[in-house]
Formats: sequence, C-alpha cells, structure tokens
Amino acid sequence: MSSIELGGAPTPGEVGPALIVENLVVRYGATVAVDGLSMTAETSQVTALLGPNGAGKTTTVEVVCGLRPATSGRVRLLGAEPGSRQVAERIGVMLQQGGLYPTARPLEWLTYLARLYPSHADPSALLALVGIDPSTRTTTRRLSGGEQQRVKLAAALLPNPEFLILDEPTAGLDPLARRNLLEAIGARRDSGTSILLTTHQLSDVETLADRVIVIAGGRIVADGTVSELTGADDAMSFGSRPGLDLTDLAAALPASYRVREVRAGSYVVHGPPTPQIMAAITAWCAQKGLMATDLAVGQRTLEQIVIDAGLEQP
Ligand code: ADP
Repeated sequence: MSSIELGGAPTPGEVGPALIVENLVVRYGATVAVDGLSMTAETSQVTALLGPNGAGKTTTVEVVCGLRPATSGRVRLLGAEPGSRQVAERIGVMLQQGGLYPTARPLEWLTYLARLYPSHADPSALLALVGIDPSTRTTTRRLSGGEQQRVKLAAALLPNPEFLILDEPTAGLDPLARRNLLEAIGARRDSGTSILLTTHQLSDVETLADRVIVIAGGRIVADGTVSELTGADDAMSFGSRPGLDLTDLAAALPASYRVREVRAGSYVVHGPPTPQIMAAITAWCAQKGLMATDLAVGQRTLEQIVIDAGLEQP
C-alpha cells in the first residue's frame, strides 16, 4: 500500500476543524470495531489517538484515509469526503505497514514518488530533514527499522500535505531517532499542518499532542489536552505508607486543598499545583519520618488512563 496520496498544491488552511467524524460505525461481520465515534481534529494541531490494542484506532485511521468504508456515520476531511480527489491531493499518510519499495535507495524512491505530484517538496531536502543521508547507496529494505520509518515520513511529507496521518510513527526508533522525528513532526505542526497520530508511546503524546483522544471498545472514553486528562492543572499525587492521617496532612495545607487516598498508599491532593504545596507535602511526610515517593503534578498519568481504558474495554 502506498504511503502517500496523489499530489496537488496545498490551499490555505480550513476554517474550523480539519477533520470531523460524526457517529462513525465500522463493523467487520459481527465485530463492531468502531461504535458510534464522534471526534474532531483541529487545524494546525497534533491530535493523538490512544487506546489499548483492538480499541479501533487503526480502523478509524483507515476510514479517515479513505482506505476503508464506514458502515455508517459521516467523515469530513478538509471539508470533503475521505478518499475523494479533493482530499487525496492534500494529505500525507504514513501507515505502519508498507510504503517503501524494497530495492530502491531512499532518494530513488522519493524521486519516483515526487513525479506523481504536480507540486512537491524537494526529495533530498526532505531526507536530510528526517536525518537520512540523501546520497546513501543502501536500499530501503537494508535500512534499520528506524531509518525506514524516517524515509516513510519523508515520503508522507512529499506533497507538502495540509493534513498528515501518522500511524505509530516512532515505533522501533532509538531515543535519538525518536527525538529527531518528533522535532520534525512538531515543526510541521508549527508551520500549519494538521496531524492525526496514533501511538503507544505516551512520551510522544506528552511531547507533541495538543489534544488526546482515548478510545476503547470503539468508543471515546476521554478527550482533552494532556493537562486536562491527567488533572495537571488541579491536582498533585504522591505515594507513601497506606493509611496516612489525612486530616493532619490537610491541616498542613491551605484550607482549599483536599486530600484523598485513592488506592492503598496512593494519594491525590486536589487544588492548584504550586512549588510551595509540593514542598509542604514532602515536609509533612518528612516530619512523620516518611518518604513521599512519585510526587507528581496531576492525579493520573496517561499510562494509567490507557490501562484503565483497556481494563474497562468491553
Ligand atoms: P487498534 O488499532 O486500536 O488496535 P483495530 O482498529 O485494529 O484496533 O481493531 C478493532 C477491532 O476490529 C478489533 O477487535 C480487531 O480484532 C477487529 N478487526 C480489525 N481488523 C479486522 C478485520 N479486517 N476483520 C475482522 N476484524 C477486524
């Protein structure tokens, strides 16, 4: 399957969301893979789709790409029907599987693809951007997994897409390659490209995503910014011995702060996080001869949100 669509000159940004999905249902026989999903992806933002395996992320992405028909529901991408000519010329797609010609060198492959586009970016410059030497004589099948991912991203960027769809873009990358790739994706967003991303790398989401949509069982179970979902604007959490005297701890904090033991030995302090409150929590623990471990801003990590979504998945 090709990793990009036929090209055309990008047009100025859309008014309103770049992607609108309304009540999307996709069935595979008796399996309901996507079950009435409604979401948007805003223009010039990175929207991350998260969720456990089998949640319906790939199916949703395939419908948005125009590769798979919806059973029912409505999808508008850049104001048009997915898979239509108007859209195909304005999007770039990097799927997990495929998208490379095994016996071609990276520059040969991108130069070949560039001929399919009336207007495109410079293949050598794109390879350099993603950290691949344009003069390399290594064929794409002999590149490392991380290098292959970067060539696929360069191919997706060839048409200067207004909307970029990335399915697990950093899978298999070493930390430096991942950082470089994330920087390249972030730079695209900053120059106005709208991006829909699926990933299991939650650190990528924390680094890059303007908006996070968590899916489980084909439905949305959480939708917001990383701060909103983790509660980073209005809570802190820490671990310590189970059964702390919470009345005593609350008395050491300003009156508006509330403390809960959410699981044995796991505590959430509700209220705006500040350095003073964080210090007051550790000072109170220290006074009692206790360690405050895993002191963090927010009450839930993204990892906990996704794990919980998987446990609750039908
Ligand atoms: P995710 O990408 O979140 O892991 P998928 O969209 O791949 O989820 O899958 C959602 C559900 O649909 C799963 O239960 C999966 O087994 C099922 N599924 C996916 N593709 C097919 C297919 N081609 N035929 C039948 N069932 C499928």
